[in-house]
Amino acid sequence: MSYESKDKAARRAAEHTEYDAIIIGAGMSGMYQLYRLRELGLNTLALEAGTGVGGTWYWNKYPGARFDSESWSYGYSFNEEILKEWSWSEHFAGQPEIQRYCNLVADKLDLKKDIRFNSRVASARYLEESNRWRVTLTDGTEFVTRYLITAIGLLSIPTMPRFEGVNDFKGVWCHTGLWPKEGIDYDGKRVAVIGTGASGIQAIQEIAKTAKSLTVFQRRPNWCTPLHNAPISTEEMEDIRTRYPEIFKHCQTTAACFIHTHDPRSALDVSQEERIAFWEKLYATPGFGIWQGNFHDIHTNREVNRQLSEFVADKIRERVKAPKVAEMLIPKDHGFGTRRVPQETKYYEVFNQDNVELIAVLETPIERITPTGIRTSEREFEFDVIIYATGFDGITGAFNQIEFEGRNGRTLREEWQHGPTTFVGMMVKDFPNMFMVMGPHGALGNQPRSIEHNVDWISRVIGHMEQQGIELAAPKPEAVEEWHDFVAEKAKGLLANEVDSWMTGVNMNVQGKEKRGLVRYSGTAPEYRARCEAVISGGYEELDFDRFVPGNAVSADAKQAV
Ligand code: NAP
Repeated sequence: MSYESKDKAARRAAEHTEYDAIIIGAGMSGMYQLYRLRELGLNTLALEAGTGVGGTWYWNKYPGARFDSESWSYGYSFNEEILKEWSWSEHFAGQPEIQRYCNLVADKLDLKKDIRFNSRVASARYLEESNRWRVTLTDGTEFVTRYLITAIGLLSIPTMPRFEGVNDFKGVWCHTGLWPKEGIDYDGKRVAVIGTGASGIQAIQEIAKTAKSLTVFQRRPNWCTPLHNAPISTEEMEDIRTRYPEIFKHCQTTAACFIHTHDPRSALDVSQEERIAFWEKLYATPGFGIWQGNFHDIHTNREVNRQLSEFVADKIRERVKAPKVAEMLIPKDHGFGTRRVPQETKYYEVFNQDNVELIAVLETPIERITPTGIRTSEREFEFDVIIYATGFDGITGAFNQIEFEGRNGRTLREEWQHGPTTFVGMMVKDFPNMFMVMGPHGALGNQPRSIEHNVDWISRVIGHMEQQGIELAAPKPEAVEEWHDFVAEKAKGLLANEVDSWMTGVNMNVQGKEKRGLVRYSGTAPEYRARCEAVISGGYEELDFDRFVPGNAVSADAKQAV
């Protein structure tokens, strides 16, 4: 037996296998959920596939990865000490700094002792006879728990294109979402990037600085706007610190929890001159202002959206010297802001560099990856490095990677075969005592703001159950239906829901995700939170709360007693 396996065996022997709560994932969601459940006095374990905390910020180490929300609006708001101690160095911090932040939080709250790293969950089965969940790792290790909380992320399963020959390539290749810890040396090399979503755009603008050549394979361009990042001085950070309460309070009032607020006016309420002046101002403003702080009807009114798209298209034309390349970079199949807007720093100017070439794969499709590079219908390219910035199996992807089995042996995949159905994005019918942080049909936007809300809500429900001796909770079928209707109602009229993207459940690289579906909640965060709050203030009428009768289902007496 090797030293390592002895050590592993000893760890296993010392390890508990029964917990009050198990959390899957130790990203921003899992870390905070662990903290809150420990606060409730529950013996809690978090299972994390990686070797460190941070989730998205642990895996996405590609060059140029950084926030697109203001750093100071993104960090956790719940801990005064951390807010006092931590200083952000930039308005939109880079991945290494964000990972340091996640580690500081984990260390400060002593979270790591309850996180089992290198632990990828393969299945989670509800055991009707004991009202427990059995969680099994890919290496066969099993745990049993009363509560199961998923904190597995919306964009955590990287997807590769279905090209032939990916493994034949003799050079270095990698997906942006699985960037190796030791990094990839691309300086002075011939590099290809496939994909121009937010990840690809951040990587391209960085790699173009030192690569010998960079060839960008673009399928559909996205509308990108300037990030306008800047360092934060000590004085500015001190000022931000004093304003934290108002910043977080403000984020609670906006549609997607960003610091930007939509203008209540219609774009058509103002003159053309005023409209353009406003858009010029927003284009020069840091962050998502032009997307989240614009006239409210840019998201719903086709004519307004067309005008704004034309405004941004002209900016691209101004910035890219070759008119043909500029036109290639302007989206023609969707309007501005109908897909998540990548934030850029001199992205368009990259295409003025001699070492950068743009290939439109819809015109000259990639036929295969070869041992030395990429073959399109037109040309054979040679590369040293190929980077796949081809996105994620969004929203339901991480759930499909784990075999979840609820009551009566019904799997989550079966339950969601026609699209996800949840209660407030956090619970699923017939999956008792299972909670999801940031599940499908919950509020998106500035993630940590929604994460904190979800974790607090789940912790309040669990706290109530513990206090009242309730052993089993599941949403009532009619509550799930009502929530689904509400989500469907909120999706109406939004131009974004008429466009293919991960937000509408489309990923051409994943079988069964070729068509749009209702996978996200598109209403506002305040409305979402109000609905969740009403569940608690209304006495949890939407949930079935039961006492568990060992050996079988819950008795009617027990139901009444709760
Ligand atoms: P993405 O937006 O889904 O982009 C994937 C890109 O790969 C698209 O350009 C897509 O083209 C292309 N692609 C996929 N398969 C292809 C194929 N077979 N051939 C050629 N091109 C192909 O993924 P992402 O860039 O990783 O971003 C996902 C989300 O993560 C973002 O929307 C954002 O919410 C989040 N994110 C945030 C940040 C941040 O700044 N905080 C950074 C990165 C990501 P099509 O458009 O034609 O499908």
